[in-house]
Amino acid sequence: MSELIIRDLHVNVTADETPILKGVNLTVRSGETHAIMGPNGSGKSTLAYSIAGHPKYTVTSGEVLLDGQNVLEMAVDARARAGLFLAMQYPVEVPGVSVSNFLRTAATAIRGEAPKLRTWVKEVNVAMTELEMDKAFAERNVNEGFSGGEKKRHEILQMSLLKPKIAILDETDSGLDVDALRVVSEGVNRVRATGVGTLLITHYTRILRYIKPDFVHVFFDGRIVESGGSELADVLEESGYTRFGVDEAAHT
Ligand code: ADP
Ligand code: MG
Ligand code: MG
Repeated sequence: MSELIIRDLHVNVTADETPILKGVNLTVRSGETHAIMGPNGSGKSTLAYSIAGHPKYTVTSGEVLLDGQNVLEMAVDARARAGLFLAMQYPVEVPGVSVSNFLRTAATAIRGEAPKLRTWVKEVNVAMTELEMDKAFAERNVNEGFSGGEKKRHEILQMSLLKPKIAILDETDSGLDVDALRVVSEGVNRVRATGVGTLLITHYTRILRYIKPDFVHVFFDGRIVESGGSELADVLEESGYTRFGVDEAAHT
């Protein structure tokens, strides 16, 4: 049983000290799926980046604990070894490094030893088949010319293979086509069934037709303003964020 605790987290943009997160409180446990939903600019990605340790953001107060360990004091790679999966940790192109090598290197770093090549190849094949990915994808260079859908599939592929304790996925409001959305959702549901705790950050309610979260949190102006069960997503789908004082037109 693992537990990620975010306690009264306050975060500024490093460059100009603009406060973005204004006291975020949230606990994610093994096997739970939490959705954070909120309008554009409310600070959802900042939350993900802050937990990932992105230098653009400075934590000014509060805590992030994974099974009692202080995540904010860990080097970025140590966060992954501790069992946190932060998809946005590797958003950049990695020139000359194939998906296959990249995944094996990441698995080696996290497991503390290189996975045996034969079983590894099998593992990767199974995971790629589940995600309806072409085998040729494994030989492409990481993120080089990836479409939005391919980036997401790659992200879920990493998550399936690295078997984190807690995964944080930021949908980044990206336009996934329905097919990619379905495959990504099924991938999330599969790892969820293995006991991974998931924090799914999203602007749109449509992914929640495929992934039924246990908890939904409405995010607005740098903090969670309401929490509930999956029925809260239905309320948002119907009435948007207006009841939280948000003018949708100004934020989408
Ligand atoms: P969301 O993911 O909910 O759309 P973000 O976390 O991307 O929101 O952004 C929250 C707010 O912080 C926005 O007003 C955005 O302009 C601002 N912001 C985020 N990152 C930076 C940055 N690096 N420099 C300046 N402002 C930023
Ligand atoms: Mg945004
Ligand atoms: Mg965002």
